[in-house]
Amino acid sequence: MKSISTKMVKLLILALVGSSCLSVLCAAEDFDFFYFVQQWPGSFCDTQKSCCYPTTGKPAADFGIHGLWPNYKDGSYPSNCDPNNPFDQSQVSDLISSMQEEWPTLACPSSSGIAFWTHEWEKHGTCSESAINQHSYFAAALDLKKKANLLQALQSAGIKPNGESYTLADIKGALKDSIGYTPYIECNVDQSGNSQLYQVYLCVDTNGSDLIECPVFPHGKCGSSIEFPTF
Ligand code: 5GP
Ligand code: 5GP
Repeated sequence: MKSISTKMVKLLILALVGSSCLSVLCAAEDFDFFYFVQQWPGSFCDTQKSCCYPTTGKPAADFGIHGLWPNYKDGSYPSNCDPNNPFDQSQVSDLISSMQEEWPTLACPSSSGIAFWTHEWEKHGTCSESAINQHSYFAAALDLKKKANLLQALQSAGIKPNGESYTLADIKGALKDSIGYTPYIECNVDQSGNSQLYQVYLCVDTNGSDLIECPVFPHGKCGSSIEFPTF
């Protein structure tokens, strides 16, 4: 009897290891999804805070990447998960020129972008290292930007960065129609108190590869009329 149950336990352990589901050995992700966040440079600059162009020059008049942020389904999120895995430029050297174009920094004082990417990797990226490494993290964000061309989606619906205002429903509808998933729109307030289109959040699976419907949206409201400033 004893030898049978020992055998069964061994078989069970083998089965669990085989399916990689023994909790200590499981390759489980410790987050549920990513927010992929893009910022409109005209809105970042058009606030009481000033903005500074990167040392590489004025960015294109396009949305830029802000970050790829691991999140939990309950709306909370991990941050600064691994002080032993700092940003390492040598791991992403092949991506730097694309990052300068697609992930420009607008904070002052002017810088090359290294400080912004370091902050994003160390605060957010390190919390995804159970799923993807540093190179894959930055490559994933760059690929996602190609899959989610926000400016093209808005412009083809007549929503242009010309200082005019649009409704939240029109902005969300244009993005959903073109990209296929419902975005979260974050607004900020310009110097005259107008609500403006600041950031667009889309949700992504834990591999960083495919867009998904958001399991939960951030909180916050835009005004009824949302300005889309020039840049
Ligand atoms: P704010 O408080 O300005 O909305 O956000 C400040 C920073 O907190 C963001 O840039 C981001 O790093 C982090 N953050 C804010 N909201 C979220 C969220 O819902 N998920 C994650 N992962 N990070 C967030
Ligand atoms: P988060 O809000 O993601 O925690 O952090 C944003 C940090 O990155 C801030 O400390 C901010 O000063 C810096 N940063 C550098 N460049 C940019 C930029 O272009 N946009 C935003 N939102 N933050 C930037």
